[in-house]
Amino acid sequence: MEIFSEKVWISTPTYHEEEIDYIKEAILTNWKSTIGENIDEIERLVCEKIGCRYAVALSSGTSALHLAVIEAGVGKGDYVLCSDMTFCATINPVIYENATPVLIDSEYDSWNMDPVALEKAFKLYPNAKAVICANLYGTPSKLDEIRDICDRYGAVLIEDAAESFGASYRGKMSGTFGHLNVISFNGNKIITGSTGGCLLTDDEKIAEHIRKLSTQSKEPVPWYQHEEIGYNYRMSNIVAGIIRGQLPYLEDHIAQKKAIYERYREGLTGLPLTLNPHTPDSEPNFWLSCILINKGAMCEQKRTDMTVTFERESGKSCPTEIFETLKAMNVESRPIWKPLHMQPVYKDCPSVSVDDSFSVCEDIFERGLCLPSDNKMKAETQDIIIQTIRSCFE
Ligand SMILES: *Cc1c(COP(=O)(O)O)cnc(C)c1O
Repeated sequence: MEIFSEKVWISTPTYHEEEIDYIKEAILTNWKSTIGENIDEIERLVCEKIGCRYAVALSSGTSALHLAVIEAGVGKGDYVLCSDMTFCATINPVIYENATPVLIDSEYDSWNMDPVALEKAFKLYPNAKAVICANLYGTPSKLDEIRDICDRYGAVLIEDAAESFGASYRGKMSGTFGHLNVISFNGNKIITGSTGGCLLTDDEKIAEHIRKLSTQSKEPVPWYQHEEIGYNYRMSNIVAGIIRGQLPYLEDHIAQKKAIYERYREGLTGLPLTLNPHTPDSEPNFWLSCILINKGAMCEQKRTDMTVTFERESGKSCPTEIFETLKAMNVESRPIWKPLHMQPVYKDCPSVSVDDSFSVCEDIFERGLCLPSDNKMKAETQDIIIQTIRSCFE
């Protein structure tokens, strides 16, 4: 068994030389705070890439989601219909506002929010204020269908495009389908500022209000005057310098990620598994490549909240076996997002699936695994990983 002397990570930041120039300039010209050319430039560049009218640079994707939830008018006692299989940051802002997330199951075509389950949830919660739909692993959800349902029920759609910057659905960029949209520049995303995020909208008033909320809601008078609660959520001009240096490489990163996905697809051909799917009318950014093992090829896994074990079986495998085999080789892989309805901290949140007795996202969690997808991974390294996965099924 090969053991890599340098750890192979799922996804790491990629350095581009311009980053240091933009940071250096910000420091030397003393624009280190939350105003400056880097911020202005990334807001302009993001609008240009996504085709939206306004981008407001914020300290993180989570803070952008929080302000989106506030802007949607969500408050105490409200219901917000949210993706179930996603990162906790998608739904936490709903709880910060004392509202209740209703967790909506996934479909198998994109692994994202199922429009059929969403429609069912609106019948149960017809007054739901908003919907937060996440595009997992860079793959767009069925965004037109979801937007259409939101419009019919008069709910605000918040597109959580944290992972899908640069992806598109029916020729339209991810990050333009919601009334409010969020991207993230967290350390492992396809473009990173070490941290950071943007709220995207076509509405000038909303953009202005988000800017105000993110800078402690100061009224436009010389003294400190406050008429609503504000937040310290604006992006730093130093962080913006990193992002500004990264943004021109978005298309390169996507091409590299796509090549990794295609190499997995070819290399894993013939095994009883599929890669994370996308609908034929969408173009993902291929942020992470994942596998889903066929039901009939799963060896047994036993799971508690905090532990998981498996029974080795010839001709079969499971995510836990592959995870542990790769780990022993100093290779990082990661389970699919554990559905939020399975998390103790969200046990009081209602959840809705098409079939009351079956959860699609539990099934994907049980049979799925995220594979190393670093855009700098060498082809030889990936080939060894592919061979290792093959050996797990022997
Ligand atoms: C990363 C991520 C976020 C949060 O973004 P941060 O910049 O880390 O705050 C939100 N939703 C999803 C789906 C994410 O992957």
